[in-house]
Amino acid sequence: MAISFDLTGKRALVTGANTGIGQAIAVALAEAGADIALAGRSAPDETLALIAATGRRAVDLRADLATIAPVKDLVNDAVEALGGLDILVNNAGIIRRNDLADFTEEDWDAVVDTNLKTLFFLSQAAAGVMAAQGSGKIINIASLLSFQGGIRVPSYAAAKSGVAGLTKAMANELAPKGVQVNAIAPGYIATNNTAALQADETRNRQILERIPTGRWGSPEDIAGAAVFLASPASDYVTGHVLAVDGGWLAR
Ligand code: NAP
Repeated sequence: MAISFDLTGKRALVTGANTGIGQAIAVALAEAGADIALAGRSAPDETLALIAATGRRAVDLRADLATIAPVKDLVNDAVEALGGLDILVNNAGIIRRNDLADFTEEDWDAVVDTNLKTLFFLSQAAAGVMAAQGSGKIINIASLLSFQGGIRVPSYAAAKSGVAGLTKAMANELAPKGVQVNAIAPGYIATNNTAALQADETRNRQILERIPTGRWGSPEDIAGAAVFLASPASDYVTGHVLAVDGGWLAR
């Protein structure tokens, strides 16, 4: 059997795809042949245009994922708009920074709800559709802080460590149903999310000194891993957290 990275005819739901890593993943899945539902709170105009240029279909399903209220509708709406659902990419995420002593309940809840709770219930809804058809791919965007503690980001480290655990928990239960669940742990990627770090001369230098590859990653660096984990080429890969980090964790 030929190894296939082809996604022709597949239908994908990608969260937080108006910019950054989510945008690069949505466009790469479309380039590989998939139609895409974009779920986020901001207008994904640029992503819609980039997908249109690939010749694939994209639909805009606007939703604020800070709460799980829109989650069930989102999966139903994606199934209705695309005629089914084969791939879910849980990418939407936020980060809040503060010292431990000053960290507020609001900053705890906002990050854990958006990055972990919504991810679980969206996966639960998508898994129902995928298990019924006997196939599917769920890809969670984790972080280096799924492995490490980071600096002044306790709710983010907790949520992303939770994403790694949940990826394995869901993978175990869904494997017999033909659904693979994996995560990508991006290293330091140049996006809005890391704009403050890039602008901080000292932190920027410290970060670059530690990355064996010697540069920040681009959103496109993450997209290839996403196409692999969405495609038949990864059918025997499940419960894995794949670091795409320029070698950071190898140090
Ligand atoms: P980004 O440019 O800030 O993009 C985050 C995306 O999530 C945006 O589309 C954003 O929409 C969306 N989002 C946030 N809160 C939302 C909400 N309540 N409802 C709907 N959508 C929401 O950041 P990024 O770097 O591409 O991050 C993407 C993912 O990668 C996140 O899970 C992040 O934690 C993870 N990650 C990033 C890095 C990195 O170095 N950049 C490293 C490790 C992990 P808006 O534009 O409307 O805010």
